[in-house]
Amino acid sequence: MINKSAYRRRIVIRGLLVMAILFLVINERSLSSQNKPPAASVQVLPLSSMSAPHAASTDINPKSSTSTTTTTTSISNSTLTSAYLKNAQPERSPQPQQQSQPAKAVAAAALPVAAAKGTKTVYLTFDDGPSPITAKVLEILQQEKVKATFFVLGEQAETHPELINAIWEQGHTIGNHTYNHNYQELYSGFPVFWSQIKQTEEIIRSITGIRPQLIRAPGGTFGHFDHTYFNLLEQAGYRVMDWTADSGDSKRRGVPAADIVGESTADLQSSKVVLLLHDGGGHEASAEALPRIIAKYKAAGYVFGQLNEHIEPVQFRVSSKAGLKRTKPSASWIAAHVTPNAGLFAAGKPLVLEVGMLETSLQTGEYSIRDGQYRVPLRAVIERLGGEVSWDPLSRSGKVKWNGNVVTVDVGKQKLILNLQSGLQVEHPARVELIGGSIWIPLRDLLETAGHPPLKVSVTDGERRVKAL
Ligand SMILES: [Zn+2]
Repeated sequence: MINKSAYRRRIVIRGLLVMAILFLVINERSLSSQNKPPAASVQVLPLSSMSAPHAASTDINPKSSTSTTTTTTSISNSTLTSAYLKNAQPERSPQPQQQSQPAKAVAAAALPVAAAKGTKTVYLTFDDGPSPITAKVLEILQQEKVKATFFVLGEQAETHPELINAIWEQGHTIGNHTYNHNYQELYSGFPVFWSQIKQTEEIIRSITGIRPQLIRAPGGTFGHFDHTYFNLLEQAGYRVMDWTADSGDSKRRGVPAADIVGESTADLQSSKVVLLLHDGGGHEASAEALPRIIAKYKAAGYVFGQLNEHIEPVQFRVSSKAGLKRTKPSASWIAAHVTPNAGLFAAGKPLVLEVGMLETSLQTGEYSIRDGQYRVPLRAVIERLGGEVSWDPLSRSGKVKWNGNVVTVDVGKQKLILNLQSGLQVEHPARVELIGGSIWIPLRDLLETAGHPPLKVSVTDGERRVKAL
């Protein structure tokens, strides 16, 4: 009897214990789901913390691992940003402060130093140029070893083609900011906006040989773009980029440099900052502010990224008032203009060049493929790989100094000539072309003549890659 009742008691106690545990577990679950922050704040974190170390460990080249990390984090963080932007005024930097704290904590706990470093990226963007101020900006960027993105006006590009060339040859990204920046024309209806984009694109292409795929709307998209603008540009293969932080350098004339520094660096917590600056006429103060802006972001641990078409764009929400009076373009207009345009950007993969210890990548439109050969712009490739190119207008030839070799690129005679130290010359026929102000050349001919014969050529889902000696 005693044993039996003790046994029963034990069963009852055990049952009570199980119930108590179940109760705790269920309660805990419902508690944690109640505490779960709004979708945007935590859910994206594991993505960046998981993929970043993978990228870092598979890449030997520090440059490429940084850029992979950058892309990963920016994609996840822009989800946050766009969630914020739905309620933000366009001129304001969204406030992702709450989110960047856990982001940092997770990254720091789970990742090696290199990956954690990649979690904060700033994209410097310059609108309304090029102007004489652009030259100053380029000089500063070069000194600071920082890359940026320039959203240029077609009108300005026509006046200063040499600055367009300089921007591009120094490895910065060029985006399209329409031809004349005139709001009344641009926002009267999509076909006008479109024609200014195409006009500017042709001007840039005639100078550099490349078509910019990135677009920034004058004044930003908020209050200007309706869904038609967004949808048709996307359908045509373009990427529209707004910003997350405004330097305030164009809110009135003569904003002092100190104010521009202050506004540009007001938030050094966000994991992704797309900073709006201007390098158009009258923006001397922006150039003056730039070294201090860069110093502050560097001190706060940011890496400097270049916008490209693979980064999830920052875009303002569509205002309900935008475009109410516009007539939509007809289906036949769209079929004639927008639909075929996407094919211009269809190649879609960057071409990565790995030469010795150095690596650089050319985005879609920065290189071409003809007759099964990669064709590349000479100066951009050589300068990004540490060499120098000079141009002699008299003989219509370029001179390449690269890794101890001197190669003459003769446009008229369609030849590459390797000048040996002994005074001997080795000639190599090549289809050299002058497009706008740039020499374009078959990549293989260039590498072979310059003493870096290609070792391996590969194509994956993500990239094309040429590895050379
Ligand atoms: Zn502008």
